[in-house]
Amino acid sequence: MENTIPENKTLVCKTCQKEFLWTANEQRYYAKKGFAKQPQKCNNCRKVANKLREGGTFYIHCAICDADGAMLNPPPKDRVAICSQCFRSLAKKATQKA
Ligand SMILES: [Zn+2]
Ligand SMILES: [Zn+2]
Repeated sequence: MENTIPENKTLVCKTCQKEFLWTANEQRYYAKKGFAKQPQKCNNCRKVANKLREGGTFYIHCAICDADGAMLNPPPKDRVAICSQCFRSLAKKATQKA
């Protein structure tokens, strides 16, 4: 890391796919803590995720119907998450095709 003053950065939230601002202050905080990674979630999703984690569930944002939801399992990291409703309708379509 260079010794320059960090600027506000626009990142895309991994959960809701919306852009959010990673402020210079937060970047300094991350650097101080030695975090190598950028934040993956916007503040809103982080708040919801924390709340759900306390209740033993994980927050997901469905890539198909665009709804917020909760899952008992952690959302997959390598692909987009979908809610249980869309999962069921996809599974149904798949069996109808066969
Ligand atoms: Zn988000
Ligand atoms: Zn859905």
